[in-house]
Amino acid sequence: MSEKRCRNNRLVVYPGTFDPITNGHLDIIKRAVKLFGSLIVLVVRHSEKSPLFSLEERIEFIRSATVNCKGIEIDSFDGLLMNYAKEKGIRVIIRGLRAVSDFDYEFQMMQLNRRLYSEVETIFIMPREEYFFLSSSTIKEIVSYGGDVSSFVPKLVVEKLRLKFKRSDVIIK
Ligand code: ADP
Repeated sequence: MSEKRCRNNRLVVYPGTFDPITNGHLDIIKRAVKLFGSLIVLVVRHSEKSPLFSLEERIEFIRSATVNCKGIEIDSFDGLLMNYAKEKGIRVIIRGLRAVSDFDYEFQMMQLNRRLYSEVETIFIMPREEYFFLSSSTIKEIVSYGGDVSSFVPKLVVEKLRLKFKRSDVIIK
């Protein structure tokens, strides 16, 4: 990984499963890059979450959706985020906050991470209002019933979801 440091010389990472990436994730990515100048989007392999898409597929979705955004690097990891942070010199972790329901979990993780590695600061970013209720799992559920998700995820993701769920009726716009 080439070390792309942001304006104030801090490495910034946005970790997630991204199974698959949604316009909500993209909204957070764009806001973080605007704030820090550069960002590592870190794809967590996450075996216990049993992702629908392989690591390679998830990375490809992110790559194609961010091809025109400068300052973005994509990396992947397995294991403890704080070990990755220590190893790479990460100082800032970006997390997205949607409805209040995200808060409990994120608050716990932030406290734990701070204990594990005090050099890291977690920064929460809220997406545009229309993405408040958007999650990768609801997207998968909607497609599994043949619903239209074209305004919530990039086109490539709609196409691949359609194939995974064998729903040729799903609209691709
Ligand atoms: P994880 O398994 O780490 O929660 P996700 O891919 O589900 O992985 O989410 C990664 C991060 O993006 C989390 O901080 C999550 O809260 C945030 N996120 C997910 N969907 C949205 C959205 N629609 N708007 C803003 N943030 C989001």
